[in-house]
Amino acid sequence: MAADSVLIDRFGRVATDLRISLTDRCSLRCTYCMPAEGLDWLPRAELLTDDEIVTLAGVFVGCGVTSIRLTGGEPLLHRTLAEIVSRLAQFSPRPELSLTTNGVGLVDKAEGLVAAGLDRVNVSVDTLQPERFLALTRRNRLADVLAGVAAAAAAGLSPVKINAVLMRGSNFDEAPALLDWALRQGYRLRFIEHMPLDAQQAWNREVMVSAEEILELLGRSYSLLPIGHGPDGSAPAEDFEILDGPGRAHWAAAGHERPRVGIIASVTRPFCRDCDRLRLTSDGQLRTCLFARDETDLRGPLRAGASVAELTELITVAVAGKQSGHGIGSGSFQQPLRPMSAIGG
Ligand code: SAM
Ligand code: SF4
Repeated sequence: MAADSVLIDRFGRVATDLRISLTDRCSLRCTYCMPAEGLDWLPRAELLTDDEIVTLAGVFVGCGVTSIRLTGGEPLLHRTLAEIVSRLAQFSPRPELSLTTNGVGLVDKAEGLVAAGLDRVNVSVDTLQPERFLALTRRNRLADVLAGVAAAAAAGLSPVKINAVLMRGSNFDEAPALLDWALRQGYRLRFIEHMPLDAQQAWNREVMVSAEEILELLGRSYSLLPIGHGPDGSAPAEDFEILDGPGRAHWAAAGHERPRVGIIASVTRPFCRDCDRLRLTSDGQLRTCLFARDETDLRGPLRAGASVAELTELITVAVAGKQSGHGIGSGSFQQPLRPMSAIGG
């Protein structure tokens, strides 16, 4: 826990990880995330300016936040992304800075982002088959994405993390091939269970591929040893060391740390009890849970001249009221009104 952390909730969880969504717009249209025609994007006047993002981020860092992830929508669409990274990198204490991106255009931006202070990157790659990529994202950009991943690794953002959402009847069968590819390239792969956060509200438990099913499929060609949720237990991914299987020898030969694969099983194995995350939307709303149905407006008070102390108070109160868990599967669960792309994944 940061020495001056004030972000503690009723259940004793301390928030140290802030995700900032820079935009709700996107260069892809992943079927599990948004409809083909896109969404009604947030009006520009409602979006936080760069100065507002930096000011609010500074308040969070003052409250004990130690890592900031920039996401979206697609954060690479934000024209001044590198400037924002560089300004966040000047905070003291300096937070760890990371990016979650679909990789489109990353090939031209990776080096500049590292120079600006970016520490880590997660790139979403759900398939390595061009036709599937087109069907899944409704855009023909796989080559661009793979070039972006390679550029990120070459720029020193290693190991690059890869996020993959598996969908039954689509890319589920590709899980072992994705892992083989990631091991050969030196990327760290994490599978994410599909969550009820799609804009179409079409999520269906029958279509979702569960952690258990992923492990069963991987287990046909890999020997996996469960090693837990990161060093402090708060990482959302449950990690498995790869003792044997395709691509493993390649990884070992490259001299990387122990090869592993992660599974983020938010639906079937929720990690809410250890959640240390907060989210700031691109229109300045604080969300204490991906699945929260309420938000705390920080943009309004900021624009009205609230002091750092007043903003800190708003954030502290919001965090104190963080819900215990998402409750997916309970009879009372209701999908949040904002889709994932407008919350910041
Ligand atoms: N556009 C960027 C990207 O795709 O990486 C950043 C934003 S995206 C919302 C962040 C992550 O959320 C991606 O890895 C994406 O695959 C994942 N995602 C999107 N919708 C999801 C859903 N309904 N359930 C689970 N993961 C989802
Ligand atoms: Fe865009 Fe990411 Fe959603 Fe795909 S998952 S549509 S890349 S925001």
